[in-house]
Amino acid sequence: MIHLKTPDEISVIAKGGAIIAGLFGEVEGCVVPGANTRDLDVFCDEYIRAHAGAEPAFKGLYGFTGSVCTSINEEVVHGIPSPDRRLALGDIISIDVGVKLDGWCSDSAWTFAVGDVDAETQHLLAVTEQALEAAIEAATSGNHVGDIGAAVMSVVSGTGFGIIADLVGHGVGRVVHEEPQVPNLGQPGVGPLLRAGMVLAIEPMISLGSDQIRTLDDRWTVVTADGTRAAHFEHTVAVTESSPRVLTVAAEGVVSPT
Ligand code: MG
Ligand code: MG
Repeated sequence: MIHLKTPDEISVIAKGGAIIAGLFGEVEGCVVPGANTRDLDVFCDEYIRAHAGAEPAFKGLYGFTGSVCTSINEEVVHGIPSPDRRLALGDIISIDVGVKLDGWCSDSAWTFAVGDVDAETQHLLAVTEQALEAAIEAATSGNHVGDIGAAVMSVVSGTGFGIIADLVGHGVGRVVHEEPQVPNLGQPGVGPLLRAGMVLAIEPMISLGSDQIRTLDDRWTVVTADGTRAAHFEHTVAVTESSPRVLTVAAEGVVSPT
């Protein structure tokens, strides 16, 4: 069942989303060679909890031990923060953050470069971010879920990059993962109808090579099957009667720290 949210509920989700946007602005300065992912996790946890009523939504979710997911290079999603995982110059790391504020969840991920990265990796980051932007633009009332995946495909097509098909976006609300699923592959006009009040996490995951994945023995970390790098950008978006509203951005009138 797809739950439609009221304007007041969407406002609360946007407040939580603004916390994530602020966090990304701050944590970027911590994404440096030598940093370990456990320290990044602690930074994120403390940043979120410094906001009254907010907690990290991923902590304990399905048994996950971190407060955020930290996925380096060929890791696509669900990397477990660890003091033993250190960033090196030229790496990329996606930080995936869920916030629960006053009972409502928001979900956003960003892939950061650790210093200068090679040109191919820069291209991957740019294409994945463009895919997210196009997908968000497709999240309009009257479109279908398939239009979102089709938008991702239109951006990635011709690059030679792989769209990870086995991982999908999702509805967001009282819990992090709700219906509908939001695949990154799709056909226009196919799938559930998008209606005002739907809140969706849209999250293309794109690799330099294979579109196939596997899960490591830690039973969490998802990596590309061929070991090539992957990028992941995600926003929580409300479908409205007019343009889609991105909820995981700085609050209006608040200057972003970056
Ligand atoms: Mg996420
Ligand atoms: Mg998500």
